[in-house]
Amino acid sequence: MSEAPLLSVRGLHKSFGALHVLKGVDLAVRSGEVAFLIGPSGGGKSTLIRCINFLETPSSGEITFDGRPLCHEDGRIFHLAPERVLRAARSEMPMVFQHFNLFSHRTVLENVIEGPIMVKRRPRAEAIADAERLLREVGLHDKSDFYPDQLSGGQKQRVAIARALAMRPKLILFDEPTSALDPELVAGILDTIRALADRGMTLVVVSHEMAFARKLADVVHFIADGTIMESGPPDRIFDNPQNPRLSGFIRSIL
Ligand code: ADP
Ligand code: MG
Repeated sequence: MSEAPLLSVRGLHKSFGALHVLKGVDLAVRSGEVAFLIGPSGGGKSTLIRCINFLETPSSGEITFDGRPLCHEDGRIFHLAPERVLRAARSEMPMVFQHFNLFSHRTVLENVIEGPIMVKRRPRAEAIADAERLLREVGLHDKSDFYPDQLSGGQKQRVAIARALAMRPKLILFDEPTSALDPELVAGILDTIRALADRGMTLVVVSHEMAFARKLADVVHFIADGTIMESGPPDRIFDNPQNPRLSGFIRSIL
């Protein structure tokens, strides 16, 4: 396929002080693709997707999203795009977090309309109409006026997904979206994510739900020690891993 990827990451490094976490990550995500990131805890998965939407600033390397360079190297100098470009890109690839990260003092509806109004400058009435439609889609039409505390974990995560969709994203980043949920609530969130994939949304999903990854992923990337050690279609990654670290990881979680 000759079409440029929607998201392209090249030679990405990230250090926190003396701790070198990402050690040259290369990743391409095509439009409509569902990419899963798997790997041991501490391997750098969260740091990678936080760098992709600039919740963390990379230390060096290149990220291009939807044709726009967000950071790149020029000689030995690391350039970041202007803040407004980063903010726009962040709004087009929102993140859904393990712990929901909702505004606890705002209602469900207010949580969903905040980004469209503040970041996208959309008229309030339009943002509300959109939010109500999205809340209906995720099965929360009757919860608009509730506060996050009054919801189950699964419902909170649906609000977070509606909030991401309200930004009219080109890509959604999920960081272990079901890890904080009670077991009986996991399937509902996985169904919601599957529905997004079925509609052609581009997804990057960090998850330990291996059966889910196997069914939904177009490609699985195994990340350990700050690098992508192996990538491939799910059947190959799970049934015929090449890298011994990956085989060990798969054995440890099955
Ligand atoms: P994963 O999501 O794969 O479990 P993380 O990206 O969260 O891994 O973490 C990778 C490494 O980076 C860990 O050693 C972690 O302690 C470290 N790390 C992550 N965020 C920070 C931070 N804000 N400050 C310092 N160290 C961090
Ligand atoms: Mg993580």
